[in-house]
Amino acid sequence: MVSKKITSHVAEYTCKHCKCELTTTESGTLDVLTPELKEINESLAKFYRKRHQVQSVA
Ligand SMILES: [Zn+2]
Repeated sequence: MVSKKITSHVAEYTCKHCKCELTTTESGTLDVLTPELKEINESLAKFYRKRHQVQSVA
């Protein structure tokens, strides 16, 4: 799995084999990454970077 960190406790994952996308949520569960969740994560990431003064997240 490849992962993309959103915040300290939220990350997105892509399965190398079937390309399915998953995400951890603020509540700590692992969910299928729906377009809705993707949008939420994008705003979370923006907010998080601003708040924590992080320039870039790999
Ligand atoms: Zn998979």
